[in-house]
Amino acid sequence: MPSKDQAVELELLIKLQDIQAKIREIEKSTNAIPQNIELIQSGLERSKEEIEQTQKLHQSLESQLRSYENEIVDRDEKLKQYQGQLLTVKTNIEYAAMLKQIDSLKRMNEETGEQIFHVEEEMERLRESRAEKETAYKITKEECDAKVKEQRKELDEIQKEIEKLKSQAKTLRAKISPRLLSIFERISRARDGIAVVLANGGICQGCYTSIRPQVFDEIRRGGSIVQCESCSRILFYDVNS
Ligand SMILES: [Zn+2]
Repeated sequence: MPSKDQAVELELLIKLQDIQAKIREIEKSTNAIPQNIELIQSGLERSKEEIEQTQKLHQSLESQLRSYENEIVDRDEKLKQYQGQLLTVKTNIEYAAMLKQIDSLKRMNEETGEQIFHVEEEMERLRESRAEKETAYKITKEECDAKVKEQRKELDEIQKEIEKLKSQAKTLRAKISPRLLSIFERISRARDGIAVVLANGGICQGCYTSIRPQVFDEIRRGGSIVQCESCSRILFYDVNS
């Protein structure tokens, strides 16, 4: 293989390595976005649940109120009945017993009336609280929706950028010989994406092992693909470094 081609391929490998590093870095930065969106949405969901709970509590108080009102209606009917019977009782004892029952029903109605008052107060409090929560929810939802939209837009832009880089990487790969590319990919996978490193100063910048002078000369001449004898990374010499 002519040495000029090797130098070109080495340059292509370095470019490919840079692009792959960039892709990894960008992908890492996007990892947080779906989590952010989920966090925003779950916060909103909690506020919604709180409103629903308030609503449920209000409904249960409403049914309690109806049952109290029914109790009063029932007792009123009984009262009417007893008051009619008062006119027909024959003895004083019967009369006194009837009056006692009427008094007791009236007292119970007063107590129930008191309970209704408290339930209505509580319902009013819940209505106010729910209205406040709904207003707050509406504002929060608008803010959250905007935030989610922003995050999705960001993710979309980043994904486009990644696609662009991947397509550049693909173009580069097509220009590199399959054998060299396969060595590069293997080392890259094993060495955290760093397969090509500087050899300036006679030291492998990947594992900091000294390179034998004979090998270093070969790298400096720049005509061949040389791997570090210690870490297998492909070494190159940068005249500008
Ligand atoms: Zn090395």
